[in-house]
Amino acid sequence: MLIVQKFGGSSVANAERVFNVAKRIADTYKQGNEVVVVLSAQGDTTDDLIAKAKEISPNPNKRELDMLLSTGEQQSVALMCMALGELGYPCVSLNAHQVGMTTTSIYGNARFKKIKPDRLRRELDLKHIVIVTGFQGINRFDDITTLGRGGSDTTAVAIAAALHADRCEIYTDVDGVYTADPRVVKNARKLNEITYNEMLELASLGAKVLHNRSVEMAKKYNVELVVRSSLTKAEGTVVKEACKMERMLVSGVAGDDEIARISLIGIKDTPGKAFDIFATLAKKGINVDIILQSIGRDKTKDISFTVPETALAEAQAVIEANAERWGVEKVDYNENLAKVSVVGAGMTSNAGVAAKMFEAMFDSNINIHMISTSEIKISILIDKKDMNKAMNAIHDIFNLAD
Ligand code: ASP
Ligand code: MG
Repeated sequence: MLIVQKFGGSSVANAERVFNVAKRIADTYKQGNEVVVVLSAQGDTTDDLIAKAKEISPNPNKRELDMLLSTGEQQSVALMCMALGELGYPCVSLNAHQVGMTTTSIYGNARFKKIKPDRLRRELDLKHIVIVTGFQGINRFDDITTLGRGGSDTTAVAIAAALHADRCEIYTDVDGVYTADPRVVKNARKLNEITYNEMLELASLGAKVLHNRSVEMAKKYNVELVVRSSLTKAEGTVVKEACKMERMLVSGVAGDDEIARISLIGIKDTPGKAFDIFATLAKKGINVDIILQSIGRDKTKDISFTVPETALAEAQAVIEANAERWGVEKVDYNENLAKVSVVGAGMTSNAGVAAKMFEAMFDSNINIHMISTSEIKISILIDKKDMNKAMNAIHDIFNLAD
């Protein structure tokens, strides 16, 4: 079998862990598999490099920042190859340029365009274990780019797709995908399997197990992913197209307390206002999530929407610059909110799920400010202080623990 394995930064944080992972890689290789390994930078290296850049410049040149950040992964792959060498295994480390991983031009947030499998293939044919830098690529100017934080998962999936690998294993410090964050919900349960779509929702909802784009890419190229622990032999969670409907409608609960709500009150009730507001925000690259518009009264209406907390200041600036043109009477901001969502591929056409979720909120005396639904997700906006209580109540009412 051809197996791609990705190890995150904490799994290779120091020499001891590098050797542990090296043994794990060697085990897979010894079983007669072809092995390509993708690594992140050790421990907090990427954060440390960013801090270093900020000591020099508050707003570092983006090309140079990528040049700097990409060195973190380059350290990991070289060290891992040395460790495998010490253990007596044939091994080669490669960076994005050597592999030929081309991306779009945008520094700091590049996307893969193409991966040439030739060099990888050649090394595998020589019976080498191949260790590749995660997180980086090369753009059309032949410059180094990075894929955005957590991007090494995406490198692993892209390589698995390019090589038509049999498996893509993502090793991390948790042993799989859970029905909820186990730090918040004590009796959260590890899922044996989950669909791409569910995983995409959970990833975007703040269950930080996998880089969102890695799941999108896995879905697109039908790469079966396994998320498992680098510390134990536990089986992990398989992410794939369709799952047995062994279980209930809902597969997980996610919470996100890094959001803010903006309300534009008393907007003139004429066509084109919503278009103008959201087009202006979109032009500034501000991601809007839940949108709620009230029915008009006295020829005005109110529009509320949520943005990531990190985008609030920018959104505020856009609104202040445009409020007069939009004819907004009053603007209200609220940062003390959280979004709690249930996700499940099985709930597509089941009206009862929403009612049950709201029942859990009623039982816990939690007030719901906004609601949004999609085919596989129902989200509610509540006070931040209620988030953990809400997640537990929802987890209980859907019996997700068993
Ligand atoms: N080292 C990069 C980061 O910390 C990429 C990764 O870990 O996937 O974001
Ligand atoms: Mg990382």
